[in-house]
This record gives sequence, C-alpha cells and structure tokens, in this order.
Amino acid sequence: MSTGKINVAVENIFPLIKKFLYSDHEIFLRELISNATDATLKLKHLTQIEEAKVAYNNPQIEVKVDKKAKKLHIIDQGVGMTADEVNKYINEVAFSGAEEFLEQYKDSAKDSGIIGHFGLGFYSAFMVAKKVEIISKSYKDEPAAHWSCDGSPEFTLEKHDKTDRGTEIILHIDKDSKEFLEESKIRTLLTKYNKFMPIPIKLGTKEITKTEGEGEDAKEIKEVVDDIINNPSPAWIKKPTDLEDEDYNSFYRELYPMQFEDPLFQIHLNVDYPFHLTGILYFPKITQDLNVQKDRIQLYQNQVFVTDNVEGIVPEFLTMLRGVIDSPDIPLNVSRSYLQADGNVKKISNYITRKVADKLKSLFKKDRKSFQDKWNDIKVVIEYGMLSEDKFFEKAKDFALYPTTSGEYLTIEELKEKTKDAQTDKDGKLVQLYASNVDEQHAYIEAAKAKGYTVLLLDSPIVGHLLQKLETSEENISFARVDADQVDKLIVKEDTTPSKLSEENQNKLKSLVEDVVPQTTYTVQLESMDSQAMPFMITQPEFMRRMKEMQQTGGGGMFGGNMPEMYNLIVNVNHPLVSQILETKTKKKQDRLIKQSVDLARLSQNLLKGEELTSFINRSFELIK
Ligand code: ADP
Ligand code: MG
Repeated sequence: MSTGKINVAVENIFPLIKKFLYSDHEIFLRELISNATDATLKLKHLTQIEEAKVAYNNPQIEVKVDKKAKKLHIIDQGVGMTADEVNKYINEVAFSGAEEFLEQYKDSAKDSGIIGHFGLGFYSAFMVAKKVEIISKSYKDEPAAHWSCDGSPEFTLEKHDKTDRGTEIILHIDKDSKEFLEESKIRTLLTKYNKFMPIPIKLGTKEITKTEGEGEDAKEIKEVVDDIINNPSPAWIKKPTDLEDEDYNSFYRELYPMQFEDPLFQIHLNVDYPFHLTGILYFPKITQDLNVQKDRIQLYQNQVFVTDNVEGIVPEFLTMLRGVIDSPDIPLNVSRSYLQADGNVKKISNYITRKVADKLKSLFKKDRKSFQDKWNDIKVVIEYGMLSEDKFFEKAKDFALYPTTSGEYLTIEELKEKTKDAQTDKDGKLVQLYASNVDEQHAYIEAAKAKGYTVLLLDSPIVGHLLQKLETSEENISFARVDADQVDKLIVKEDTTPSKLSEENQNKLKSLVEDVVPQTTYTVQLESMDSQAMPFMITQPEFMRRMKEMQQTGGGGMFGGNMPEMYNLIVNVNHPLVSQILETKTKKKQDRLIKQSVDLARLSQNLLKGEELTSFINRSFELIK
C-alpha cells in the first residue's frame, strides 16, 4: 500500500469544488458517465487495432444505487487503469485539470458562466461525495488498483483483487447530497444528460411481458431484463440516406415525449470541415407568439447533453425550432460572452443559417404546393430570419411567399410581375396593397379589388418591420394597407375625378363635419371620389399605423411612449348623400345625418364601441321606425 499527497497548488481545492458550483452538483454524474464511456470506446478502438488482445463483447455501463450503505457505484467494462496510470491520470492530470477549471471558473462566474459547467472532470465527484474510491483493472496484465481519497489532499493507493476488466467508481455520498441516493433522481439525471450516449447504461432491472408461442399455444410470460436508460444510436448520428420521414418523426417523439404533433419537416446537419457538427433541426408549427417557444434545441457534445440554451450558437431566429445539435468544436469551458466572439462558433451559426435556407429552397422547388400549405406555420421563422440575418434575407427571396387575399402565394418577383401594370403610381413606384384581416378590412379589400388591384394578406406580428426592410432593400416598391387611404389615393394615378362641389360648399361641409367628430382623433379630409364609392370612410395613414405596430413588437418605433391613435375621416364630396346633407334645412338634422354616417364608417373599422355603439343602435332603430 502507498499513500501520498496530491500536489496542491491552490490551497484547499476540495472545499472549492464543493461550494463553487453549488447549484449544479448534479453534473458529477454526467462527468463520471462520460469517463466510463471514454474508457469503453478506448477499449473498442484498442481491440480494433489489435492493441488490446481481449474480446470487446458489447460492454455496458452500470449505475448502482446503494441507499442503505449511502453509496453510488458507476461501473464500466472499459480499458481500466493500472496503479501507475491512476497515479498519473487521477493524481496528476485530472487534478491539475480540475484546478485549472476552478481558477477559470472563478473569473467567468461573474458573467453568465461556463456553458453547462462542462469540463470539471473526475473531481466533480467531490461535489456530492465525502469519500471517493476507484477500483480499476486494466486490460493489461497487471493487478487491479484501489485508490481512495476522503476529500483531503491525502490519498491511498493499494492492490485490489478485482479480476474483471474495467473501472468501478464508488461515491460515499455526503449527507448534504442525500437526493443522489434516490434511484428516481438518478434516473432523471441519466435521462437528462445521457439519453443518447453511445454505450448502453444500465440502471437496475425491469420486468417485461413477452408473448411466446403462436395461436392457441401463445402465452404471456414475464421476464426480468436490464433496464437500459439510453438509446446508443440516435438518429442524428446516422446517415440521412438511411432514414425515412417516419424515423425522423419517431426520434422527434423521443426528444419531446410530451409533443403530440409531428413536425412539419426537418433538416439533417452534417459537416466535417472546417468544424465538426451533426444534428437535426425540426420545424414545428409555430404559433404567433414569438416568446413561448424558445429553449427547445438541445446542445450535445459527442452525444452528451450539455444545455438546452443555444443562445449565441444557433442564430436567434432559429431558436424557435426544435431538435439537436452536436459539436465537439463548441468551446464549453468559456463563458457565453467569450463564445459570441469565437470564430468557430460564428462559422457554425452561419453554416446553420445557410443549411436552413438551402433546405427551404429545395422544399419550395421540389413541391411548391406542399410548401405553400405549410407557409402559415413556418412564416414567422422565415420572416424573423429575413429581418435579423442579411444573408438569409438574400436567400429567402427565392422562397419567401406573399399570400394574396384570393389564395395565391407569390414570391416577391412574381408579385412584382403580376402587379406592375395596375399598381404603378404616377411617380413610377410600385405600390403593393395588403390587408391584415380579411374580415375587418373587407370593404377596403373589395374596393381595391374592384380597381383590379392585388391585395396581399400579411398577418404576422412582425410584418411592419419586414415591410420596412423590403421598402429599403427593393427598388421602387412601397406597401400600404388597404385602409391607409381611400382607394384612389392608395395608388395615385394622374386622373382625378373632378369635384362637383363649389369651394364655398366644400368649406361649409368641412366645418359641419368637424363640429360632429372629435378633432383630436379624426382629421377630416374632403375627397372627390367616384360617386359609387362610400360617402364616409375612415382610414389610418400607413406610416403612423406601421410605426405604432412596430413599437408594439419591439424595436424600430421612432417615438417614445405610447403613440396616439390617428385616423382620417374621408368625405366623398361626389356622393349623393353628401349633397343631401348640404341641402338639409336645419343644423340639427344635418348633425344627425353626419353623426349617423360617421358612426357607420367607424363601425366598418371596428371603432364603435361601448356607449357610443349603444346609442348608435338606438338611433338606427328610431330611423327605421
Ligand atoms: P478527462 O475526462 O477530460 O480526461 P477527467 O478528470 O474526467 O478528465 O479524467 C481524467 C483521466 O482519468 C481520464 O483522461 C482517464 O485517463 C482517467 N479516467 C477517469 N475515469 C476513468 C475510467 N472510468 N476508466 C479509465 N480511465 C479513467
Ligand atoms: Mg472526463
């Protein structure tokens, strides 16, 4: 037997290990299972190159909870360590690694911290154990070694009579960490961190029911089998050519057991150069709410779960997707602020953006109909991406769709082609009209269609921002909502219908109307329109409305505080009703006619509510009596 003192540079690293990562004690299990996996894969490699002359024999890793003796065992059948190797790897290498980690962590703990606290290694065992033992038998022909350390820098190292190859780590769980003696807790942790690790992990046994025999002889028999908690070959490490849609969907259900709806489609990521990355990103149906859906992509490193916060690694607009990315090239022992500046990570993020754009383009090209059918469920992601990533914006020209109120789906080029004759104004600007709600803006849509205009249906929450971007990047194009003005002014052509009213009458009419409506909200605007057009109508100027909407969805608003609601009240001086109002004898009667007309206009914009609506209804009944 030998004893020794671990070479401690920093005084008292053990208390540091215990206290430092107080909130994340659970990561010790991930570290130990990772080591067991590494040791097993090392053995596999050595047998393959015939360096180790032993049979590989489908080894597994076993986790045993011994609640009574307050011990947790992690047992592998990997390469094992000789006494010399324990000295070298545990007492020296691993220890200085842990020391370095803690030094680094002290500094970066101030900002957002090291991702998933990856890399503390073997010594993380002391976060939960007051004493740790290693019993290890190397594949080499040497006796087993037994290392033991009680959390002080002193350790003992002696021979052991273990004969089967591999390493057993025994944690004597500290009384502060009793939770790790609950099998259910261990199961939860293994499922969280190790669900897709490459070596089978056994936790206890379970009873399964099998049918044996056939027909009348068939009988159900119960059998006790190892309870393997992981799926050692998850879909993302397989070749895309070996997978069908159904395989992707069933892996999706494995990732999100509570999710009952299949994803719309997926993108299999696979790159070797200049960095390694594999993964699968799924497009689920995205609702209008931009915030509830994040934190669903899981980050792995060599099949070990790291975190489900991929901020900084995956471009912001894609955090609404789901799935897995696995890359050994993402530095995890740095804080997030360092991560954002890392060149590799930037490349990874660009690669993911490009892959997503390429996939969308190929889906669009391959089956346009089915792409159109999915548009409403994916548009938020695409529109958000167009806004936030210029490279994506460029690529999205090929597949971003602009649906019309008549059920067509057009690309921007198709839209321009379709509208250029009817919708170019006198200054040569192509004006695109859109609605945000076909029911609420029905009258305006009909008026525009009657003119031969195409009306788009753009109803996502960030549409104001997107239009702003399109107007600045596309040449000579502008967007106006159908209710932004009366139809002849939405797209101004040379010919204006001449007014039938004298100037004197126009002034009279204007002051009559202004007497009735509150001028803080409504600007009265006399227009000489077609006599068939509506006599009174309310519009909301495009610029003000869009700014207000952009302010509500964050960013881009130019005014502080709450912007007021502002409307135009348009009076069509060529309409017979307007002449009738002017000819009416008493002011009281005129006011009543105007009030009724304005209320009808407000009603069609959904602006008449509460008491005003009630009195409008009562007044209307009076009129038809
Ligand atoms: P890392 O895994 O990053 O090398 P660790 O502190 O986790 O750092 O482990 C240190 C070293 O101890 C490993 O590199 C390995 O050589 C050895 N080791 C740890 N656990 C085992 C094990 N179960 N079987 C064989 N060797 C092990
Ligand atoms: Mg390790």
